[in-house]
Amino acid sequence: MQLSFWEHDAMLDADLIVIGGGIIGLQTALELRERRPQDRIVLLERGLLPSGASSRNAGFACFGSLTEILSDLDALGDAAVLTMVERRWRGLSRLRQRLGDDEIGYETFGGFDLLFDSHLEALQRLDEVNRKLQPLFGRAVFSVDTGTLAASGFGPRVKALVKNPLEGQVHSGKLMRALAKLAAARGIEIHTGAQVDALEENGGEVRVRVKGERNAVFRAPRVAVCTNGITGELLCDTGIVPARGQILVTEPIAGLPWQGTYHLDQGFYYFRNVGERVLLGGGRHLALDAEATTDMALSDTIQGALERLLHDTILPGREVRIEHRWSGVMGFAADKQPIVRMLSGRVALGFGCNGMGVALGAEIAAQTAELLLA
Ligand SMILES: Cc1cc2nc3c(=O)[nH]c(=O)nc-3n(C[C@H](O)[C@H](O)[C@H](O)COP(=O)(O)OP(=O)(O)OC[C@H]3O[C@@H](n4cnc5c(N)ncnc54)[C@H](O)[C@@H]3O)c2cc1C
Repeated sequence: MQLSFWEHDAMLDADLIVIGGGIIGLQTALELRERRPQDRIVLLERGLLPSGASSRNAGFACFGSLTEILSDLDALGDAAVLTMVERRWRGLSRLRQRLGDDEIGYETFGGFDLLFDSHLEALQRLDEVNRKLQPLFGRAVFSVDTGTLAASGFGPRVKALVKNPLEGQVHSGKLMRALAKLAAARGIEIHTGAQVDALEENGGEVRVRVKGERNAVFRAPRVAVCTNGITGELLCDTGIVPARGQILVTEPIAGLPWQGTYHLDQGFYYFRNVGERVLLGGGRHLALDAEATTDMALSDTIQGALERLLHDTILPGREVRIEHRWSGVMGFAADKQPIVRMLSGRVALGFGCNGMGVALGAEIAAQTAELLLA
């Protein structure tokens, strides 16, 4: 099919183009709108629905569990970790203010670290971590919670629970719907099913070619690329690495004895309630090389490990049906530092939340928009 004169004349030119309709792409478009009220802003998303991580995640609104923060402190040092935690917390506030808690299904039941025997030494450093986070939160964040553990029905390997009352959870489908609705209301033109397969700078514009029968080429002087873990299929050497995450969700369980978000093994496993269902994910560390992929399939190794954890530890002795399974692709950057930089004078990159985009996404989006317009 040929492009018509009308399509050519009025539908392909923009002032600003954002590639990728995940939590960062949509918020980057919104940040650009705040700075450029009159500009024509176009967002191109390859999937009919977002097709990376944002609508396929676990919906933890978290800034780091005790064991994860300890591991990061040892690997990255105090200053880097405190900056990281602060950005996540600020990003979360920005997201909640932007959309409202009801719209994103935000709930606060608290977050918990499950400690097995081999993790108990983390308790000896609980005060140290609280002291380091005190200036950010003005209070102690982590404490041992014996009451929740006693009522939880968790298996005997769980020796202690550490609670973070500031952690919450969102409904990721509602969140993405709310972002898309707001973007449309702010006059951002969203095209889905628009997979960009080439970017080319030509004089004062960037040509953005969309794969498909019309070979449509959008044009704008400035472009933000927010394609996260899938970026390698479009651009080489940006520093982002794909990391697949797998999830399962059970049927509703009458009288589920706990609520909240739970982390295990520095966050390599995680589970939460969704109403009376259990959502469980993780296990990527069991096959790190195989999971460094953009293929959104499921693997028997990881789904099997998740099921064992569900039956041995989370709901021991209960027969439950698993009703949903899926995978999504995260983007990981070195040293957990998001990638926000200019690729050229006209193209900005914004991605690499390392599995924490619910909290961090708003911050990265604001920085990406700022940089693109600088
Ligand atoms: C299983 C799983 C569980 C997770 N759990 C949590 C959690 O509980 N809490 C948390 O904070 N974070 C979690 N995350 C991470 C979080 O979802 C991400 O950090 C966040 O969604 C990243 O947003 P993004 O916009 O950068 O990327 P994405 O959501 O991946 O968005 C990128 C978009 O770009 C599109 N795209 C890619 N290439 C092209 C192209 N060539 N042309 C057009 N469009 C393109 C993709 O289709 C995609 O929609 C999880 C991730 C996964 C996979």
